[in-house]
Amino acid sequence: MARLTTAPSVPAAAWGAEWHENRHEEPMSDRTAIEWTDKTWNPWHGCTKVSAGCDHCYMFREKRMYGQDPEVVARSKTKFRDPLKWEAELAPLGQRKLVFTCSWSDWFHKDADPWRDEAWAIINQTPHLTYQILTKRPGRIARHLPADWGEGYQNVWLGVSCESDDVRHRVTQLADIPARVRFVSAEPLIAPLMLAGIFGDLQYHRAIHWLIIGGESGGPERREMKLNWARDLINQCRDFDVAPFVKQLGGPINAKRGDPAEWPEDLRVREWPAGYEVSHVA
Ligand code: SF4
Repeated sequence: MARLTTAPSVPAAAWGAEWHENRHEEPMSDRTAIEWTDKTWNPWHGCTKVSAGCDHCYMFREKRMYGQDPEVVARSKTKFRDPLKWEAELAPLGQRKLVFTCSWSDWFHKDADPWRDEAWAIINQTPHLTYQILTKRPGRIARHLPADWGEGYQNVWLGVSCESDDVRHRVTQLADIPARVRFVSAEPLIAPLMLAGIFGDLQYHRAIHWLIIGGESGGPERREMKLNWARDLINQCRDFDVAPFVKQLGGPINAKRGDPAEWPEDLRVREWPAGYEVSHVA
């Protein structure tokens, strides 16, 4: 399948300054502390665990706190159509926002099959929002794209979580899907991760554009990310023109080490995919 090839990544400071300055002035609900997005959208919530990266899923923790069953996937009664409201606010201003989609579920979870087409239609009607769809179920992507997907919607980034080499196959599954931007989230990074073999494989040349790196946050059960694992991933990105974004180093919930100013200098890396500019409809 045809793949987008991109120029080398650009430092965050070099683009979208206006857009980023706005992110902290966001008056609307659904603001988020996640460093690589502006908003979250959960048209459904609830999920089931599929790999070690799910072991300490925050959604499970939060839902249980509210007395809800986290394994029941339910359509949101109040949030499903929120992007239409955001689009109406952003379009007259000519502003754009990034939207992390399904932070409390998985976009491609089978229990959401009845609602996904309606959600795709909303994405199609909201060009001032760029959706970051991150899944641990890439084997379901190809069968559940909209009929007019083509080479990928302009305003959708597709990504997979990859916490260790055990689930590295997710990256090659993603690489075979047409998309404007493809990304990998190595968070929580729980073991050394070797992606250079995939990045360097001619079959997957420049198929992956962006890599998020993060340690696990949470209680005493959290698993430590060795700083050298993060360094190694940054180096793999450098060799193959993938943009690295170090999100946090991991730690207790309120001390997850998310401030780059406190990190070793070589880990202060937050870049964005060069395809960002082409992923929006002006
Ligand atoms: S796929 Fe994501 S939302 Fe679902 S259980 Fe795993 S970590 Fe939680």
